[in-house]
This record gives sequence, C-alpha cells and structure tokens, in this order.
Amino acid sequence: MNITSPEEFFGHQLGADHKIARWDKIVDYFIKLEEKSEKIKVINMGDSTEGYPFIVVIISNDENMGNLERIKEINQEIVDPGDLDEEEIKSLIEEGRAVVIQSMSLHATEIGGTQMAPELAYNLLTRGDDETKRILNNVISIMVPCFNPDGQVMVTEWYNQWLDTEYEGMPTPFLYHKYCGHDNNRDAFMTNIVEAQYMTDLMFHQWPPQAYQDHHHMGSYGARLYVAPYSDPIHPHGDPLVWRELQWYGSHMAYKLEEEGKTGIVNAAIFSGWAHLGFHWIGIYHNIPSMLTESASAKLATPLYIHPEQLKEETGERSLVGTRMLPHYKPTTNFPHPWKGGWWKLRDIVEQQKISAWALLDHMARNKETVLWNAYQKAVRQTERGVEDPYTAYVVPKVQHDFGTMELMIEKLILQNIEIYQAKESFMADAVVYEEGSYIIPLAQPKMGLIKTLLSRTQFPDDSFTRQPDGSPYRPYDTATDTMAEFMGVEVHPVEWLSEVELEQVLEYKFPEGNVDDESDLGYLLDTRENFAFKAINMLLEKGIVVERITIPLDTGVYELPSGCFLVESGHEETLKAVAKKTGVKFHALMELEADKKPIKQLRVGIYQRYWGGNIDEGWTRLCLEQYRFPYMILLDDDIKKGKLNEDYDVIILPNDSPAIITGGEDFREWWEENRSSWSFPEFPPEYQSGLGDEGKEALKSFVEEGGKLVCMGEACMYAIETLELEADNVLKDLSSKEFFCPGSTLNMKVNTTHPVAYGMPDNALGLFWESPAFKIKPNMENHKYSVIATYPERDILQSGWLIGENHIAEKIAAMEVEKGKGSTVLLGIRPQHRCQTHGTFKLLFNTLLG
Ligand SMILES: [Zn+2]
Repeated sequence: MNITSPEEFFGHQLGADHKIARWDKIVDYFIKLEEKSEKIKVINMGDSTEGYPFIVVIISNDENMGNLERIKEINQEIVDPGDLDEEEIKSLIEEGRAVVIQSMSLHATEIGGTQMAPELAYNLLTRGDDETKRILNNVISIMVPCFNPDGQVMVTEWYNQWLDTEYEGMPTPFLYHKYCGHDNNRDAFMTNIVEAQYMTDLMFHQWPPQAYQDHHHMGSYGARLYVAPYSDPIHPHGDPLVWRELQWYGSHMAYKLEEEGKTGIVNAAIFSGWAHLGFHWIGIYHNIPSMLTESASAKLATPLYIHPEQLKEETGERSLVGTRMLPHYKPTTNFPHPWKGGWWKLRDIVEQQKISAWALLDHMARNKETVLWNAYQKAVRQTERGVEDPYTAYVVPKVQHDFGTMELMIEKLILQNIEIYQAKESFMADAVVYEEGSYIIPLAQPKMGLIKTLLSRTQFPDDSFTRQPDGSPYRPYDTATDTMAEFMGVEVHPVEWLSEVELEQVLEYKFPEGNVDDESDLGYLLDTRENFAFKAINMLLEKGIVVERITIPLDTGVYELPSGCFLVESGHEETLKAVAKKTGVKFHALMELEADKKPIKQLRVGIYQRYWGGNIDEGWTRLCLEQYRFPYMILLDDDIKKGKLNEDYDVIILPNDSPAIITGGEDFREWWEENRSSWSFPEFPPEYQSGLGDEGKEALKSFVEEGGKLVCMGEACMYAIETLELEADNVLKDLSSKEFFCPGSTLNMKVNTTHPVAYGMPDNALGLFWESPAFKIKPNMENHKYSVIATYPERDILQSGWLIGENHIAEKIAAMEVEKGKGSTVLLGIRPQHRCQTHGTFKLLFNTLLG
C-alpha cells in the first residue's frame, strides 16, 4: 500500500509559509486516501451554500470500517438507552467504539484546522505504532475537515491575490460566508444555513459522539493555544459529568502538548462555559463534551513577529490577557509555561492543533469503556433529573398567535433529535384545556438540559464571575440568552400535571399544509399574524395577483382578525391552493366586507452592504428576506453616494451597525481606537475601506425627503437620527455599563398593533435587545410626525438574559416611525431579525417592505 503524503500531494508541507491548500484540492486528497485505504471513508453530505462539497471523513481500523452500521446503531442506543438495563448496556459497550467528531476552520480566516486535517488523516492511516493502533481499534474518528468550504475558498483566493503586496495576510474585507460570516457558529439551534443542517444530522442523529472538538483561532497576543475546559460562568442545564469530562479531556490535551514541548498552552480560561449556541456549546446540553481549540493567529499563512512585551499587554475586556481566569501573562496552574515570543507561523498552529486533536483521539482510545459508560450515565441521569423536576413536560399549544412559526419551531426541535409527542385528542394540563394537535415535550428524556435551555426562561448569572471588582459587568461571551421559544414568539407552557391523553411521537416531521376553505367572489382573507402569510403574499404579488390590506380590525362573524389582514382577489383559486400548500397558510373565503382597505405592492428594497470585514447583520437580513421571498437589491457605498436613490428604491435598509462604521473615514478610525485597540487596525486596500461619508449622508437625506423610507435596525438608528436631524434621543447613550447593561436579552414590549409597521404583532411581544438604543422624543413643533410603534413597560421588563438598570428604559420607546419631508424613517431599536432567529419580531421588518 503506497499512500501519498500530504507534502507530496500538495507540493509543500501543510502550513508552510505563504501557502494555503485550497478546499477542492484538499477534497481530492481525501478521495485519494479513500482509494488507497480501507481504513477511511469519505462521505459527501451535499453542497455548501455556494456549491462546494461538504465532506465528512471517517477513519478507523479495517474491522470497524466493515462494521460501521452496527457500531453506529450501538452508539445511538447507548446515548439514548430507553429501557435497556445495565447488563445490556455493558455488552453494547464491549462491542461498541468511542466516537469522536472534530470539525475544522468553521471561521474561514482561522485556517489552521483545515490545513491540519489531511496530515492528521495521513498520520492515522500510516503511522502504525501501538498508540495509533489503539486509536484505530477503539475509536471511530469522524472529521469535518472544513465546516465552511465557501469561506475557505474565499480566503485562499483573497490571500493569493494580495501575496507579496502590502496587504498580504489581511483578513477578508467581506463576509466569509454568503449570509452569516463569523456567525456561522451561532446557528446550531436555528439551523438556518445548510452547513449547520449537515452538522446537526451528523452530530445529533447519526453519530452522537463521546467527544466533539471544533478547531479555531483567536487573537495573536496572549496564549498560543486554548484547550478545554471552559471558564466560568457555566450554564445550569448541562449534566455535571459533561463539565467534568471537559476537564478530563482538556487536561490530557494540555499534558500531551507540554510533553511535546509546546509552550503557551492555557485551559480553563478566556472562553466561558455560558456563551452562544454554537455546536461546541449546544453539544453540552446534548450530553456531548463539546470543546474548542483556539490557536493564536498569524497573518493567515504569513508569519507574524510578536515581541515578548506585547504578550503581557492588558488591553481591556476584548483582549486575551487580563480576562476570564488569565489575569496576567505569568505562570499559573492553568498556564504553567508561557510562550516567550518571536515569530509565529501557520505551521506552529498546524502542529499544535494536530497534537491536541491526536491527544483527544488517544485519550478516547485509552478510555473507551469509561467514556461509553459515561454516555449512558449522562442519558440516565438527565432523564432522572427530568423526572424529579417540578415540571413534567413542556406543552406547545396548537392555538398560537402565529401557528406556522410554532410549527417551524417544532421542526427545528426535531432536527435537534428531541423526543416530541403530538396529542391525538384534546387534553388538560394544570387546569388548562389544550386542543388536539398540541405538542408535548416530556422532560424525562436524555435531552432534558437542551429542552430547558431552548424553551425555558433563562437568567444570566450576576455574580463575582460576571462583575469586575468595581462592580461593572463583564461582557458575556455572546448574547446572555438564546431562548428559542422567546426568540420565535412561540408560547410554551411548563406543566406539572397532564391528563390521560393519546399521543403519537413525532418521528418524521412534516410541515402542515394550508388550504383555501371555500369559494368566494369577494376574495380571500389571510391572517397577518402569520409570518408565512408574508411569504404567501410575496408569491402572489410575484404573479401579479391583486392583494389589498385591510387597515382596521375585522370581525366577520366567523373570524376576529387584527388590523392589517390581507385580502386576495378572487379568480386565482388554484394558485391560492398551491401557495397554501407550500406555506401552510389558510385562505378564508370572504362572505361580505365593509372595511377600509388599500392595495399593496412589493416595494423596491435596497440593503446597505459595507466592507471592513462585512456586516453580519446585513447578511442575515438578506437570508431572512429570501426565506420569506422579499426581493431586494444590494447597495454599496458608491450606489448610495451617487444619489438619486428614489429612482430605483422605495425602501433602504440600514442593518444594525455602529454609526461610525457606516460613516467610515476618520470616524471609524476613532471608533476602532476606542473599541478594538487590542487588535491592529485593518488597513484594507482603499477600494475596501467603505463608508458613506458626507455624500452618502446627503443622498440618504434627500432620499427620505423626496418620499423614500429608511428602515434602521439596532445601532444604525443612531445614524439616522443624526443624519436626518430627528428630534429623538437615545436615553442610554451616556450611561456607564454599571448603570445600564443589557447584552443580548429578551425584553417585554408593548406594541401598538394599529400602527402599520406593527400589523400582525401581538400586543405584548418580546424583543431582542443587544447594544440597542431606547428612544425619547424631544419636545418639538412637529411631535405629530413621530409615531410610536413599541415601548418598554414600566417594570418587569426582562424576560431572559441580563438587565442592569431597568429604570432607564422603563416606558421608553423601543421602535418608532418619523415622517420627514415626503418620506419617513423607521427606527427599530431592538434587533427584529437577529441571526434569522427572532421570528417573533420579523413582522416589524416585513411590514416596512410592503407599500
Ligand atoms: Zn473562531
């Protein structure tokens, strides 16, 4: 057997200075390995977002590879044992193998992992020593050699394009994933992108592993490599054994790295156990010890020189030193051997990541029986905790404000492989009657922790781990909560008692089809409370079918509908049926109607897109509009600066962004100094240094004055207030974080549902607040041109997350519209379409796009 080494195949050592192997070539290498060895199998899960193969590589010994289906089955039984007794489990463990999944370079500029993967595979297939044999005999090693193939190709091309110029080694100035750039690891629970869907299938359905490792890079100044475990705070719903396993596995990796002479290794620091729901964090609630490696970055494949003094610099809470459990750059128990400084290269990253990846495989091979037994234990213990919980189950009522979005949530929960039942008859729970078709999610199941994480109210800890000595809060790693039900605006009831009810487990989820309930010459009503109604309407408008909007609440005798319902002309019944089937909405044949109504059309929408690394919120906005079939165009700086915007656009969207970045130039440099000083300023080539400047400001101003609608989200509202000289203020702007702090939390809002922007919203809704402004209208002669869309209540504002200084936003404005000249500006202070996750507030955006 003659297996080609990576060096021969790629023509250079992987990780060599100035060389990045491109994804297609790496795929070819894995296919070549598969042709030469029985120990490796390459599975193509399908296309990435932009059409590259998303592959999974399985490596084990010949015998295991010939027995994969049986090993897969055994593993699935151990992690979800049902009624199996301990004896049966013990015999399964004997027959079973430990499963390890490792994914690489999800963040495309963090290139080391993908460059390392071919070498790791080659070593596993060719080393032949006892340690390697033990791994192959006991472990099913599963690799996702590149979680983001599109980004890998973008970064490789970008790097090669600027090689040997002053811009060599710069990160990409645009998003390195079509829709979500760096946020691609915030999608593990909402699975909006196809890559996350493949990973969910692999990790939660096919091969729930006994260890999952995700290889990343971090900043350049500080430790050389972070390995598990996480630092505090940790999330309450993970099984304690998982947190212990993270320490156990991480210690073996850190030990092996030290043994091999690698310095600067830190564990139990920097990355907290309570963060966003990327795969390496959500895995924990699936009872999977899920961990990161984080290597210090070079300049892509270009070496970076680092002075010893630079390593010791404490530069605020975004720096790597002086942060969670790494108070200084001196030996500590979790950082016993600091790196001395000098040249830092991609090859260093490849080597350290390979050692850590190998160490994890070695550890699992040495402890196969124990880790499989633990997998069983965690399933049993989490199920027992579910039994002991005061609540028996979570009920998702069929009767919801937005039925289709509730169904969508169930579909997403099934992707997580949660056990869900549907009631075949009506039933009672805690003295409430629920309709047939409601869903019941029992807590007595191995994924108890996940269910609570996604569906129950969640408070971020406020304690010595989350406050600095002076009392000001440490910024959580990401949002302070990711409560799926709250984000989606879906009602979920924890219940203590359930009546007898016939149930059916939802095994193959099927989204319900909608219908047209009768025939009518007057037209068909469509409830605006459904997000999918907007998708349906867009499909009809595309076909030139006339749709009107009823501007008052409606009581037909059969239905009570809020302001803003859609009325579709009759004569297109077959089209309506097809649309209903695709979107799940119900068209109601109209018997009589006397109401104010006006025809609607799809407005011409432009979304502002900038460089400086790209605006992730802009990417998610595009995906959100595509999911609900709103057409849009992209506006770059020059498109805005050249003016005459009203000729081509009715609406311009400014996604969440700092006003300084939107403006660009010196404003942005000053902003960087204040907010990102621990990172070097990205001196991109001039064509990628974006910003609207004064010209852009003037163009947007005349766009609004001449009848355009400017829709701003989050921080971008402040740009509009300044540009259009609106008589509004952000009441939070001068407050310190000690006085007011609310990082990524769901807040209660009172919504004015008679306002056209809020048509279809519930009267009380949850909005995601994240670096958001809260407004007051200054006394002015044109108060009547300001209309309030949503406000915060007087008290009990926080639903989930963390809120310091509630009084500062009490009864303040969350969203409003301001008329200016012939046009208007919609200021949505909250994040209405955050990561395509906050379905509960999508309508605040959607309504602005129909006119
Ligand atoms: Zn990363």
